[in-house]
Amino acid sequence: MQDTTDAKKILAYLRDMIDLSRQLHRPDMVDLYCDAWEVAATQIYGALPPRKPNIGHYVAEPKPTTPPVWRHMMLAKPFRKIIARDGDTEILECGHRIWNFADIPGSPPAKRRRCGDCARANETRKDAGRVTRPPEKAAGSA
Ligand SMILES: [Zn+2]
Repeated sequence: MQDTTDAKKILAYLRDMIDLSRQLHRPDMVDLYCDAWEVAATQIYGALPPRKPNIGHYVAEPKPTTPPVWRHMMLAKPFRKIIARDGDTEILECGHRIWNFADIPGSPPAKRRRCGDCARANETRKDAGRVTRPPEKAAGSA
């Protein structure tokens, strides 16, 4: 009696996993769990009628080749060492102050932070370099 109950629990679990795999659009996992259900059901009930073959196959979504914008913006901010703390603000080695909002209570204090002011300064320096570059001489003007 106990064996029948356990067998039904196993089959119910495998059916749940088949349903879950269908919800997750994983026909390859559906096929695997159907195979497992078939093996378990064959052991419990004997030979089963033939099953319709699964024609679906899993195709992973292609990963984006370019990094996301937030990553570019984060990496543009250079790490700076924290040299002093003043209340809720931290003074970085570059002289900029940032508001400390990221510390988790109970965790050790951060030693470095990414400085957005330095990133903006670097960006304006790059832009200034583009503007001040001397224009190329035209061929016929000399
Ligand atoms: Zn800075």
